[in-house]
Amino acid sequence: MAFKPEKPYAPLEAIELPLLREKGIHLWLKREDLSHPFISGNKWRKLKYHLLAAQEQEKSLLVTYGGAYSNHVLATAAAGARYGFKTHALVRGESVSNFMLSLCKTFGMQLQFVSREEYKHKEILFEKYFGSNPMAFEIPEGGAGFAGELGVAELIEDLDTSMEHLQLFTSVGTGASFRGLLRGVLQHKLNWKVHGIVVLKGAEAMEDEMLDFEKARWQLHHRFHGGGYAKTNAELLGFINKFASQTGILLDQVYEAKMLLGLLTLIEEDSFEPGQNIVALHNGGLLGLSGLFG
Ligand SMILES: *Cc1c(COP(=O)(O)O)cnc(C)c1O
Repeated sequence: MAFKPEKPYAPLEAIELPLLREKGIHLWLKREDLSHPFISGNKWRKLKYHLLAAQEQEKSLLVTYGGAYSNHVLATAAAGARYGFKTHALVRGESVSNFMLSLCKTFGMQLQFVSREEYKHKEILFEKYFGSNPMAFEIPEGGAGFAGELGVAELIEDLDTSMEHLQLFTSVGTGASFRGLLRGVLQHKLNWKVHGIVVLKGAEAMEDEMLDFEKARWQLHHRFHGGGYAKTNAELLGFINKFASQTGILLDQVYEAKMLLGLLTLIEEDSFEPGQNIVALHNGGLLGLSGLFG
């Protein structure tokens, strides 16, 4: 089946919590997580232009990279199956099995485990295994790159661009989604600000990658990684349960729970004036919870 991307279903939902009432803050969650169960959230957005390019170049095999719990690898497997591409993933680390990788195989993806050392040099890996395969199309880790950012930038069109001084929040892994949002905001000449809650520890150097963008339009927050990438703690797990029971919305422990816990902490600290409008992206990734519950 040819890939003809439709606009994803990703409604804005108002969030009601005692803290928000007390501080007079209006918070909406953009439910990108609802767009597809497996091609979820920002992974759908980021894959769009990669898939269109693969199709245009008449490539039939998507090759990508990720860890054993990669939402992007699963999204690529499901999208490949849906739109008629074969898929192959180079998975970081020793051979393991888990629910997410089993789903990838169910969608027909070939999984190949590579050592952490080899994984660091992706160009060499691609050249070694696919360099002579004219059908292979490489998608960067996480669906990042300019194509990925373009897809995310389009999401701005779903929002009410007549709003003034909107504060937008997203979690930050590779930073592609953050950069995409920022591109969208600048393209539409909005006086909004994009905030990124960085889930990696010691990623302050990421600031340098954003310097091309007007500084008044963005801010990265580095104190909400909760111990580092994919690390959890009792506060975070308690927050996931509390938020789910108060709102009916699940958050994954790697990205979205850290983003919302960070955002609510900033609100608690009076970082915003009463009456402020805030939109936070829910980027999906819920199957990552399977890593938590075993
Ligand atoms: C991949 C992912 C992110 C990180 O997105 P980047 O564009 O790499 O910064 C955030 N949240 C979820 C749920 C993800 O799957």
